Amino acid sequence: MTPELSVVVPVYNEEESLPELFRRVLPVLESLSRSYELILVDDGSRDRSLALSLKFREKREDRVKVVELNGNFGQHMAIIAGFSISRGKMVITMDADLQNPPEEIPRIVAAMERGHDVVGTIRKFRQDPLFRKAASKIVNAVTNRITGLRLHDYGCMLRGYDRRIVDLILQCRETTTFIPALGQKFAVNPVEITVRHSERAKGESKYGLFRLIRLNFDLMTGFSIAPLQAVTVTGMTVAVMSLLFTAFLILRRIVLGPEAEGLFTLMAINFFLMGVTMISVGIGGEYIGRVYQEVRQRPRYVVRQVYQEEEEL
Ligand code: UDP
Ligand code: MG
Repeated sequence: MTPELSVVVPVYNEEESLPELFRRVLPVLESLSRSYELILVDDGSRDRSLALSLKFREKREDRVKVVELNGNFGQHMAIIAGFSISRGKMVITMDADLQNPPEEIPRIVAAMERGHDVVGTIRKFRQDPLFRKAASKIVNAVTNRITGLRLHDYGCMLRGYDRRIVDLILQCRETTTFIPALGQKFAVNPVEITVRHSERAKGESKYGLFRLIRLNFDLMTGFSIAPLQAVTVTGMTVAVMSLLFTAFLILRRIVLGPEAEGLFTLMAINFFLMGVTMISVGIGGEYIGRVYQEVRQRPRYVVRQVYQEEEEL
């Protein structure tokens, strides 16, 4: 029997949030009066998350599946692992930390029922640290500009995708990915709705500064090569300007004679251009690093065990 709805939840060290999630999510899914499956993907948690998930599964073995990954592969890979065993006609992704209330799920289902193949979400009154909200604003704007996608909130992971979109996402074999952007890329009739958002009540964010930077570069490098073009264009502009400046200095030397002032101005310009050079090397490196990851061809994620009903294996 194929369920109508699959809900995929990546879980990484969320032992504190899971009890409340489990308490709230099943009533919501039951209220939809449709067949469903809940897929919990344990992304190599080192706390009791897996044990709690397996315990919870005992309550509804017919509905709850648990995927145990063989290590920490990141939120997006955990979702891909969940997608690969999901069978619902609609698939909804959701975080385990309850920042987006599971009570919003029916609204996503309703939007999909109206014929939308991808339902995106925008966090209303987002409750996150100020610096994250500011960084997201910049990333959203830059990403929309360089990728040609039109999304208002790339980071909100409570989203719905229909089966066709999920299968397309699964066809992409890339090791670094960003699921909302990928879904949007394949969508024919997408829509965005606003959803509530709360502060993380338990546990802490799994994204430190460096992980956030990496994730956002996954998004920008994965969907556009405009940053590389920006480097080339900057380089060309600087070269033309230097050429004009050199011509000016030669003329000045002929007319007025040699000059020696302006040493510190020159150093300031030099440092600035060194900065630009380093950023450019870095941007190139972001792509090269990802190409390197691809060519090694290691598995994108490794499943240790899937806990689900016998007949489905
Ligand atoms: N997560 C995961 N693997 C990771 C990092 C996060 O499965 O390596 C899960 C995490 O358990 C949560 C969701 O992804 O369910 C979002 O993580 P978090 O709430 O820390 O991100 P934030 O809300 O701070 O962006
Ligand atoms: Mg969160």
